[in-house]
Amino acid sequence: MSELSAQVRRWVRPEIQDLVGYKVADPGDAIKLDAMESPWPWPGDLRDEWLNRLSEVALNRYPDPNCGDLKKVVREVFEVPACAELLLGNGSDELIQLINLAIAGHGRTVMAPAPSFAMYRVIATLSGSEFVEIDLADDYGLDLAAMQAAVGKHQPAVTYVAHPNNPTGNGLDLDEISSLALSTEGVVVVDEAYYAYADSSFLPRLLDHPNVLLLRTLSKVGLAGLRVGVLIAHPEWVEQLEKCRLPYNVGVLAQVSAKFALEHRQQLDEAIKRVLGERSRLAEELRHMPVVERVLPSETNFITFRLKAIPASRAYKHLLAEGVLVKSLDGSHPRLSNCLRVTVGTPQENDLFLGALSGLSAGDY
Ligand SMILES: *Cc1c(COP(=O)(O)O)cnc(C)c1O
Repeated sequence: MSELSAQVRRWVRPEIQDLVGYKVADPGDAIKLDAMESPWPWPGDLRDEWLNRLSEVALNRYPDPNCGDLKKVVREVFEVPACAELLLGNGSDELIQLINLAIAGHGRTVMAPAPSFAMYRVIATLSGSEFVEIDLADDYGLDLAAMQAAVGKHQPAVTYVAHPNNPTGNGLDLDEISSLALSTEGVVVVDEAYYAYADSSFLPRLLDHPNVLLLRTLSKVGLAGLRVGVLIAHPEWVEQLEKCRLPYNVGVLAQVSAKFALEHRQQLDEAIKRVLGERSRLAEELRHMPVVERVLPSETNFITFRLKAIPASRAYKHLLAEGVLVKSLDGSHPRLSNCLRVTVGTPQENDLFLGALSGLSAGDY
């Protein structure tokens, strides 16, 4: 071992050395249906107006540390109750990190259902916390009894639930989230990254629960490149979390662009409506494919489905060879064996995906 690698081994915390970093697939020329991005770029007629707005920005100055103007618009668009406070982050990933920094850490436990969003585990580990995961029920909803038993056993400081859940796509039962929040003394974070595609939101109940924080993001509604996440909570939580936020964590270009986008939110809403229409069509077509065993219900902008008679890894490679990048979930959790996850794209992209998938037949393998 070289002197340098010995030094790295000696000083980097063991739990970090054991971590497998978050990998992002290189799409090459393939159509990107792997990361829940919106397939539609910002419309051309609004581009000039947006660029004008950006040209007035003073890049020599630090951004507004409190994101005051952006918060005002976010409040309106999300219909945030007046008594709730906001905290903005560089994506909701940063907000998860900030919550763990403030509330989890060494000697404390973070809990989440499984399978769920991969970053809950990564960030819990980074923050030095123990991480406990509890399998979802057979219908991919919360296994409330198992979670409540785990609350008793592990006394988690923070419990994350994604509503709707990634990577399964289903929404959770709001009453069960409430029950979970009532049965833990710790904090429950309701992650609504897919709120725009969901049938329900926990937001109207948020202030009934002193221990619930709610997360949203602009990433899944067409603005993944901006990196703007939103935490909504009782002001007393935000007051403490604010101390862990780095000053100027949201850049001025992101602040101004997000504000502009939300002021023209009918554009975002139209894209969301188109995604919902395509999601129904995609699910219906998938259901009728002989190589598809099961299509999971989706309240998101993606669909998770299980293949039959064909290994998911073969289907994944076949799709990629045909120019379509999806996400393989096989091996990530027993409940996702032989499953792929496809993000809803434009009608043409979805046709290419469906065409490539139907080119596979069970007899080929
Ligand atoms: C995508 C996703 C996030 C992260 O969103 P960013 O705001 O882009 O960091 C958080 N939670 C869930 C469940 C997600 O799927």
